[in-house]
Amino acid sequence: MEKRELICIGCPLGCMVTVEMENGEVKSVTGNTCKRGEDYAHKEVTNPTRIVTSTVMVKGGSLDMVSVKTKNDIPKGKIFDCVRALKGVCVEAPVHIGDVIVSDICGTGVDVIATKEIEEKRS
Ligand code: SF4
Repeated sequence: MEKRELICIGCPLGCMVTVEMENGEVKSVTGNTCKRGEDYAHKEVTNPTRIVTSTVMVKGGSLDMVSVKTKNDIPKGKIFDCVRALKGVCVEAPVHIGDVIVSDICGTGVDVIATKEIEEKRS
């Protein structure tokens, strides 16, 4: 029986959750205070995913950078590829919240969207 200890990221309580697995199958989840913790533990040991947040450069804007995030979770194993891919990205102002900055980042099927408004620079 394989045991994995996780800290649930579902809320600030951060419950210590123990998952017991056998042949890749979840046999039990303990230590969680609510159902969200059980769901998180199942997903984390079978298909871990995360929302990725970062920034990209802006040309001709009131600020030089805009904050961005993946619209949905992407596989944990793709996080560094995603961050690397965003490093060279530069968009033109104006930028609006929700604008697609990169579509289908690293073949995940998930878009990266802006999370901040950037106006054009006034001259
Ligand atoms: S198990 Fe529930 S209460 Fe505990 S950290 Fe996760 S979401 Fe919060």
